[in-house]
Amino acid sequence: MTEHLYQLDSYVREFDAVVTATDGPSVALDRTAFYPGGGGQPGDAGNLTWAGGSARVVKLTRQGPDLWHVLDGEPPPQGTAVHGTLDWERRYQLMRTHTALHVLCGVVWRDYGAPVTGGNMEPLKGRMDFEFETMRKELVAEIEANVNAEIEKAHDVRVAILPREEAFQIPDLIRTKINLLPPQIQEVRTVEIVGLDLQADGGTHVANTREVGRVRVVDYKSKGAINKRIYMELEPEA
Ligand SMILES: [Zn+2]
Repeated sequence: MTEHLYQLDSYVREFDAVVTATDGPSVALDRTAFYPGGGGQPGDAGNLTWAGGSARVVKLTRQGPDLWHVLDGEPPPQGTAVHGTLDWERRYQLMRTHTALHVLCGVVWRDYGAPVTGGNMEPLKGRMDFEFETMRKELVAEIEANVNAEIEKAHDVRVAILPREEAFQIPDLIRTKINLLPPQIQEVRTVEIVGLDLQADGGTHVANTREVGRVRVVDYKSKGAINKRIYMELEPEA
């Protein structure tokens, strides 16, 4: 069973761990800071080093409670102590981007009552899909201004892991379709932009919206009468 260090501290960029199993080019570790991907956020990349060897982590896969690190070379044997290093610049850009998209969700819900239905991102750019019948071109500048205003308020971003029953009683979470979570999931991780947005979410975020920097709402697209897709970009530096 892998301890997922990124779940409670997304700023862990280097860590020590032990190989608990190997399978072809892959190793399972007792703990990891590598985010496997999910919720629209791509998985991390980086390196593992150990006495006498090193390899790139090219992919991550989940199997039950274990997180497998697919390597580009011969993996070290079970029991080996390894040191993991994330490609931090890329990961930190993804953290800023992910939090920016949650600010967008919070603003669009607060100002227009439009719920989010999905999203995707790469470093410094992303898109979110909304049930947003009244979205139109004239709103792009208004949304952008309100998103930047919220970012500048320097909201803290808080992560919590709650028992399922407790999470299911939070109205803000119900609107984001938390009820679709499979019944075997007994704990719900929540990400709260304090005062603006609360979602069930597995991704990695910055600790305060001031780390996001300015964003631009660059485009939107109609995916039918109700479904609208909004595109956002960040500056390289906050
Ligand atoms: Zn998210």
